[in-house]
Amino acid sequence: MTCCNDIVGPFDWYHRLLARLTPVANFDENADGWFDGMDRIPARYAGGRLIGDKVNAIVLHSGVSGNRIAPYFANSKRKVSANFEVTKDGDCVQCVPFTRKAWHAGKWNGRSIGIEHQGPNDAPPSEIQAQASLELIRSLLLKFPRIQTIVSHAAIQANRTDPKHYRWDLLEGLGCELVY
Ligand SMILES: [Zn+2]
Repeated sequence: MTCCNDIVGPFDWYHRLLARLTPVANFDENADGWFDGMDRIPARYAGGRLIGDKVNAIVLHSGVSGNRIAPYFANSKRKVSANFEVTKDGDCVQCVPFTRKAWHAGKWNGRSIGIEHQGPNDAPPSEIQAQASLELIRSLLLKFPRIQTIVSHAAIQANRTDPKHYRWDLLEGLGCELVY
């Protein structure tokens, strides 16, 4: 798919979304570890160097409230961050470059990519948000071929319940172990 400007119909929004997030072959990172063509809201805090060869998992999150998360990462004095936020309206922003560890999942930080989803955690994601998350994950699987596991924050850390209503059904068929 190269250009979808002339597509009309009920899935117009989705094709525009795909045009923005794919083709993945061109979904390249620049030398600084940022996806070209994706909006950036750099997080205030990130850890040391992330070694690409060690990345074998994706950790999924949801915000507790319905507020945007990337601006919080940019401004909060708490040492928290994630690599991406997928918003309720299907936008995707990068907060931490691939050259740095994001601080989202304790001891998993050094071997995972963290994706936050605008919440609230108690409500299901919007359809366009679920699709955007799927496309982002597809892109990350091509970029990091060693990723074999997609895990919820709830499954790896006590007292966490996010992302409570994630559309795991959309991830079936990706060839990854899904743990939630
Ligand atoms: Zn979380």
